[in-house]
Amino acid sequence: MEGLELLQELIRIPSVNPPGDGEGAVAELLRERLARVGLETEMLSSPAGRPSLVARLPGPPDRPPLVLLSHTDVVPVERERWRHDPFAGETIAGELWGRGTLDMKGVAVMHAEAVVALASRDREPDREVIVVAVADEEAGGGEGAGWLVAEHGDRVGFTDGRPLPEVLGEGGFGLSGVLARPLMPIILGEKAPLRFRARATGSPGHGALPPEHQAIRELARFIETVSGPRRAHLHPVMREQFRVLAEVADGVQARLFRLLAGSSGDLAVRALAPQLRARAGAIGHLIADSITPTEIHGGYKNNVVPGEAEVTFDARLLPDTDADGLLRELGRIGRRHHVEVEEIWRTGGPASPRSSLFDVLAAVSSRLPDNPVPVASLTPGATDLRFFRERGATAYGWVPLVLSPELLATFHGDDERIPVDGFARAVTAMTEVVTAAS
Ligand SMILES: [Zn+2]
Repeated sequence: MEGLELLQELIRIPSVNPPGDGEGAVAELLRERLARVGLETEMLSSPAGRPSLVARLPGPPDRPPLVLLSHTDVVPVERERWRHDPFAGETIAGELWGRGTLDMKGVAVMHAEAVVALASRDREPDREVIVVAVADEEAGGGEGAGWLVAEHGDRVGFTDGRPLPEVLGEGGFGLSGVLARPLMPIILGEKAPLRFRARATGSPGHGALPPEHQAIRELARFIETVSGPRRAHLHPVMREQFRVLAEVADGVQARLFRLLAGSSGDLAVRALAPQLRARAGAIGHLIADSITPTEIHGGYKNNVVPGEAEVTFDARLLPDTDADGLLRELGRIGRRHHVEVEEIWRTGGPASPRSSLFDVLAAVSSRLPDNPVPVASLTPGATDLRFFRERGATAYGWVPLVLSPELLATFHGDDERIPVDGFARAVTAMTEVVTAAS
């Protein structure tokens, strides 16, 4: 199988980010595969020299381009914890091992093979199809998707006077072994990171003569007041997810999901939030915003009370949370504690609506082995898709591969690997989607 061999070659390039060396070699192998069937390909390099691949199969300009988005970098490995070499690209007992098999070189190959099949048809697609394999996703995307969308939007589907693109990218593996049927999520949106700093001021002094207002104590009270999960609320996508789960589950679980999907779902989710956080995996983080302190600085000598101390927070907000309103509220709380709140950075976009492409994804999902249940979802982590959603594109995270909880845990973990038969079916499913959608 040509796709499997290509994936093995990609795995043998250790494109670990940082620093991202090898991203260009990964992109080049994908480029060669696509150029061979006649796609127009180009490599675009960010000012820091990080190359991304854009390959296009032309189509009529009056329909939204279809963008297939992947990334060429991988996260680092702790090599001594792996049972097999993470960069050898070996197939062992029906599984291809290696960093990037799931995240996300395997998906890059699914995209490439699907478009190879499309290009081999004897008619022009009825929309433009663009394969994009970017650098730097694992370190924030500033040298990859973020840069491309900002500086070369016309190359990735944003052309003035033409419909906004539809994008397929990472974010949604299927999951088996939890309910009676596997679940196949289609990710419509993600939680938006909001980073902010809180700086407390107090009276400096000697440790032996402690002043009344101390920066570190004020900061500690502020951290205690604002940190943690915020009040739970149901985003419409999650309400819809619970409605679907109620149909698949049985017994107590089904009643629970029905309650969450019902008219008093917001009350129910508040009451059940601690249990959902403890036992429901990612779902537990998709029912509320979170505010988490991540860095703290204060003081310089152990018998001196400093006049200043500061903390940085990583907040993650559901797509319908008003970030400005939250910052105003934090500012008000800060003033009670002699703490000044300052935004550092934010990103994110609205959740995408369901389109006819969603229906295609759902139909193809349900034809995978064991008839997975397609379910709209959000994801707690940020992906490159946010750059496209921010500019108004419809973007879905979807990977037609059902994994056991054990295999899913290898994503960003040790012993990452992909079942060869599942990969082959995923290539077929991706091809069905791209063919049906174009
Ligand atoms: Zn990834």
